[in-house]
Amino acid sequence: MKSFSQKTKESLCKTAMGRPCCIDAEMMGILIFAGRLKGNTIRVSSESSQIMKRFAVLIKRCCGETTLVKESKSSCFCSISNKKIIDMILKYETGSEKISELFAKDECCKSAFLRGAFLGGGIIVDPNKTYNMEFITSSERIHRDFKELLEEMELDFKSARRKGSFVLYSKSSDTVCDALTHMGAVSAQMQIINLRIERELRSDLNRVSNGEIANMDKVFDAAARQLAAINKIEETMGIRNLPDDLQEVAVARLNNKDLSLDALGKKLSPPLTKSGVNHRLRRIIEIAEKQ
Ligand SMILES: [Zn+2]
Repeated sequence: MKSFSQKTKESLCKTAMGRPCCIDAEMMGILIFAGRLKGNTIRVSSESSQIMKRFAVLIKRCCGETTLVKESKSSCFCSISNKKIIDMILKYETGSEKISELFAKDECCKSAFLRGAFLGGGIIVDPNKTYNMEFITSSERIHRDFKELLEEMELDFKSARRKGSFVLYSKSSDTVCDALTHMGAVSAQMQIINLRIERELRSDLNRVSNGEIANMDKVFDAAARQLAAINKIEETMGIRNLPDDLQEVAVARLNNKDLSLDALGKKLSPPLTKSGVNHRLRRIIEIAEKQ
């Protein structure tokens, strides 16, 4: 059976690749975490053929070169000797510029690099067991640079050493969720949100009255329905293809899963009334139903 990590990565392989700058950033994320440079060739390996196929498409879009992906019983790999790509890696390895300066200057590229890094060297534990996301590398410099990039994105990951590897990890459900949002892993993020809502509701049951529980149930049910609709839109047409006003509400809802409509409206710029937010969310649900 596939692990939660594998399933998350394979769903990420289906997300849109975005702008040319982001294509380079995602490609470099995979390369930096899963590639080994030897002479003028980089060998990249992965446990998943889908990741390698996505990587091959990124290479093709970046420099027009077709990459042959080879498969063995336990892994998939390919060798890259394209000059443009080798030069990009060498510039990083021999220079003093950081990952964020070379490959992930803009916000969009930071998210794309994060997705690549996760595909190349990330792990997420099944949230039914515990919340934990990790990025593993054998290079201290990559570890340090990448931690800085995560900090720029307000993602708080901690450092650890493990058997000669450098590990960045987070056990906070908020951080794991935010990282998944950046990457575009909507369905994994949804699963964590639903679990969290369930757990919070369970732990609150002893403290609140029946009337309050009924009210919370309503808020959570409505939020779960809205999130399911947003999730469906992302998987079919993509959130970025919604009209701007709906897109803003969809993203705000994704980032604030358990806020009431009133509080959600205050997060928007300009702020929106409860009924305004409700109206937009209803339109989102209607659009999702047509997909
Ligand atoms: Zn970009």
